[in-house]
Amino acid sequence: MRVTSLVKQILGLKGVVVREGFLSQREVVVNLKLTRSKLLCPKCNYSTRSCDDARTVDSRWRHLDMGIRETWLSCSLRRLKCPSHGVITESVSFARPVAESRFTRDVEHRWPGVPPRWTGPQLPSSPHCMENSRHDL
Ligand SMILES: [Zn+2]
Repeated sequence: MRVTSLVKQILGLKGVVVREGFLSQREVVVNLKLTRSKLLCPKCNYSTRSCDDARTVDSRWRHLDMGIRETWLSCSLRRLKCPSHGVITESVSFARPVAESRFTRDVEHRWPGVPPRWTGPQLPSSPHCMENSRHDL
C-alpha cells in the first residue's frame, strides 16, 4: 500500500487523493485533490462541469489530530456559477465551506460545541477546556 493511500484511509477521507504531506514538530498538513470532475454547489447540490474559476489559495481545515500533531487538510477548490446562489466555491464531502467552518465534519461531530471560526493551536481535550476556550475567544 502506498503511503498516500494509507494516510487517506487513516484520515477516513473519500472522494479525494492525497497528493502530498508536510510534517513539522507541531503539525501535519495533508494536501488533497478532489477526484470528481463535476463541481457541486455547497448550498443546493447543483452540479456542473463548468468551472467559473479556481481559487488562488488552497482551502484549509483542521482535522482530527494524528498522534501529538495537529492535522490540517489543504485542498485547491474551484468556483462554479450556481443558478440559485451565484458564483460560489465548490463543496467538499469532508467539511462545510471554509466561510462557515474551519473544521472538518469529523471534528465538528466529535466536538459539537467547537466554535466554527476558532483556529486556536489546540483543540479542547475536555468539556471544561472547551468551555475555557470559548471564553478565550
Ligand atoms: Zn446552489
